[in-house]
Amino acid sequence: MRRRLKCKRRRGLRPLLHLRFRYAKARYMIKFQNITKIYPPNTVALNDVSFEVEPKEFVCLVGKSGAGKTTLLKLLLAEEKPTSGRIFFDDQDVQKIKSGHLPQLRRKIGAVFQDYKLLPSKTAYENIAYAMEVIGASDSEIARDVAEILDIVGLTERTHNFPVQLSGGEKQRVVIARALIHRPEVILADEPTGNLDPYHALDIIRLLLKINEFGTTIILSTHNKEIINSLGKRTITLHEGKMIRDEKIGRFIL
Ligand code: ADP
Repeated sequence: MRRRLKCKRRRGLRPLLHLRFRYAKARYMIKFQNITKIYPPNTVALNDVSFEVEPKEFVCLVGKSGAGKTTLLKLLLAEEKPTSGRIFFDDQDVQKIKSGHLPQLRRKIGAVFQDYKLLPSKTAYENIAYAMEVIGASDSEIARDVAEILDIVGLTERTHNFPVQLSGGEKQRVVIARALIHRPEVILADEPTGNLDPYHALDIIRLLLKINEFGTTIILSTHNKEIINSLGKRTITLHEGKMIRDEKIGRFIL
């Protein structure tokens, strides 16, 4: 009960998308410090990778298939453990977070991954609502937030459609909406345009830019050259697990 009340108070103060002034003094939100990840027996997925991400940044992560992009994102979510090095999120050492507290970390991170599929038997609304139900949100909170988030991603008219009745781009927007529902500080989007035609790919990128403009940090992994070159955002390039470039205004060179 106390938790519910606390949650309500917080929700009242925090609109779904908002500018984040609390980070005005923070140096970084995310820090990778000499991260190496070796999958047994000897696949070096990441090799001594170090970088920092500031609050509200939009960072592109590029590299060929197998370069280590997904591994990097999974390490941040604590779904994988680094072989060596340290990762900090909001000044917290991710490896030191007890397993019981990992859900709190993961609620600060909205993950848009290829394998986080929508539930086929639930509508767009129900897919997003489900993510709130599991943390004990009330029906009225769910009704209010899901309607708002569907509006933000431009899917109000598809509220009651099942995944099979949605286009690839619309499905991806529901996945992004679901990732936004806990008001994350950062969205990790792993190849979110991978299965989309160029028109719908651009649509998803525009949505991520809009979310970023409202103050949410974005890390976008892609191997789409056109997207990187037209975005002009900071770009980190991975090659065979090594970070070979980190540019303020990225270009796609592999
Ligand atoms: P990307 O996302 O850039 O395609 P990944 O991070 O998926 O790259 O993979 C990096 C390397 O790690 C690849 O050689 C891949 O085969 C390997 N790899 C990824 N996940 C695992 C795993 N769970 N077990 C063993 N090897 C893995």
